[in-house]
Amino acid sequence: MFKNAVEKISKFYEIDLTKNSHADEMFDVLNEIIKFDSAAVFYLAPNDLSLEFGKNFELYHDIKINEKISKILYDKSSGEITDIVKKLIGKSHILAVRLSVKDSVIGVFVIEREKEDFSFDEKLIFETCAKIVANLIKDLELSNVLKLQVKAMQEGLIETHQSYEIIKKQNKKIKENEKLQNKFLANVSHDLRTPLNSIIGLSEALSGKFFGELNQKQQDYVEDIKIAGLKLLGMINEILDITKIESHSLKLNLSEFKVSDAVFEVCNIINPLVLKKKLVLDTNIDNNLSIVADYVKFQQILLNLLSNAVKYAKSKIIIDVSLKGGNILISIKDDGIGIPKEHHRKIFGKFYQVQDTLLKTETSTGLGLTIVKEFVKLHRGKIQVISAENEGTEFILNFPQK
Ligand code: ADP
Repeated sequence: MFKNAVEKISKFYEIDLTKNSHADEMFDVLNEIIKFDSAAVFYLAPNDLSLEFGKNFELYHDIKINEKISKILYDKSSGEITDIVKKLIGKSHILAVRLSVKDSVIGVFVIEREKEDFSFDEKLIFETCAKIVANLIKDLELSNVLKLQVKAMQEGLIETHQSYEIIKKQNKKIKENEKLQNKFLANVSHDLRTPLNSIIGLSEALSGKFFGELNQKQQDYVEDIKIAGLKLLGMINEILDITKIESHSLKLNLSEFKVSDAVFEVCNIINPLVLKKKLVLDTNIDNNLSIVADYVKFQQILLNLLSNAVKYAKSKIIIDVSLKGGNILISIKDDGIGIPKEHHRKIFGKFYQVQDTLLKTETSTGLGLTIVKEFVKLHRGKIQVISAENEGTEFILNFPQK
């Protein structure tokens, strides 16, 4: 008997329970070693034995155990369990052993024979077989856990992919909406510019006395209309510029010109505001310096910085233009309220304003410096701010000359 068992027992190692969910192969090998009529492997739960696999196992279907029996089955030191299982099943020719992996009991293995009781040798052999079976089950469990993990990972991947698709769709929608908004803003701004140009042009004609003399009051009001029109035009231009920046449709129209020409032209545009605020505008410019740049955008940069300086200056603005290391340096400095250090980076962000309640009378969009920064970047230049609260502000532009 032992010789036969030793020969056959190695067959257990060829069994892969993961491929045979009813473990028929395992029972067949056991049957070649010990003859039995029915067999079952139970997993042990605190109050239950769950039948995992079996051969002719109808017999075992209705087994119910209570907590006390469960404890005995679990507890290795409580000795043999064959008698308990005999009572549970109601049959007399039974062999039952605990299935344990390392030190923990994971289940119970039972075989049963109708006609003849099992011998002592068969009991020894069955115990050895049970040890091997316990390891096969452990491998099966591990493989099931692995399968579950792989399944969970697959589901996670699917979910991530689905979320990604949703976000992608939402992003597309947001971008489309942004495009529509930008288009709308561009159209409205464009349409506003035409009547505004008439307002500015006609108020200029009036103050230039093309239509006859004006009394002082009329002269002052016409001047106010012109200034208000210019500010409004500035705001509309800023909106148009930002929509162009965001749709990446900005192109540079490069030409070579004298820096002083561009600066003086901007000074002329801003002059009515300078006079109105009774400020002094000083310039210190090398008249021979030329630059290759986009004339309109270059002026827009200066105009934005200069209108800010006018907005915040107390008494004086100085514009300084010089050449340093092949680069054109332009400094626009005022003696105004200054900008606290913690805002220096932020002021270049869209819609950012340091003092939103202050200077309510001034028109502002919070877009001026954003546009300046983008235009400077387009020209491969740099912009720097030097300022402290109540100590005035200086913006320094640095452009390559060509
Ligand atoms: P805004 O249309 O509000 O002027 P900007 O982008 O041009 O927008 O400027 C952003 C903010 O930076 C302003 O609201 C102001 O708080 C601050 N700022 C800009 N220039 C000056 C300056 N010369 N002096 C003080 N604060 C300034």
